[in-house]
Amino acid sequence: MNKPVSSDQDGIAGLLQGVRSFRNREYGDSDALMPRLAGGQQPKAMMIACADSRIDPALIFGTRPGDLFVVRVVANLVPPPDTDGLESAVLSAVEVGLQTLNIPHLIVCGHSQCAGVRTALNAALGNPVSDAQALRDWARVAEPACCEVIAEHGERVTENLARKAEQRLILDSLENLRARPWLTDLETRGKLTLHGWWFDIGTGDIWIADPKSGKFALA
Ligand SMILES: [Zn+2]
Repeated sequence: MNKPVSSDQDGIAGLLQGVRSFRNREYGDSDALMPRLAGGQQPKAMMIACADSRIDPALIFGTRPGDLFVVRVVANLVPPPDTDGLESAVLSAVEVGLQTLNIPHLIVCGHSQCAGVRTALNAALGNPVSDAQALRDWARVAEPACCEVIAEHGERVTENLARKAEQRLILDSLENLRARPWLTDLETRGKLTLHGWWFDIGTGDIWIADPKSGKFALA
């Protein structure tokens, strides 16, 4: 049975109405925000977040256009170097953010109920996963960390196991960023600070990784 056409059209019509409202709001005066941003951007922070529709960094962190430079990929993963080009999309954005725009903070922001992390956990356990080839390739980035989390915390894919994997993968992404010498050089010279955050969709809480211990604590 076909999907109801009207709901599809409502979805698209809603987006077009949204852009009209945005235009009315943000382009009204000569000194309005968006016309000024047409001259350039100077974001205060960069964030690597998940593609999940529930994780909208601008809404969650209360930023305005131009504040936050965002790259969104499934499970907010940063691959290690030399992964047959898998890393190019994320790293090209990181290069723009840190080398071209000189953004001083980079946050890897994971979240609860992450379907991408569950895919990686199930792949690591040998359970059936999606037939989508690119997704399976991407999930392999997370597999070594998932195997370690499973070895430590058990093979049942529970909320607790998923949370351990979600948080562990944030730390792995930070380490994979640091595997790029130019990025570590920025950090060593005090030009860049890396942050690991985990957002709980159920409660709205943000948990922050301690830079030394890697333990996550409620902010
Ligand atoms: Zn996710």
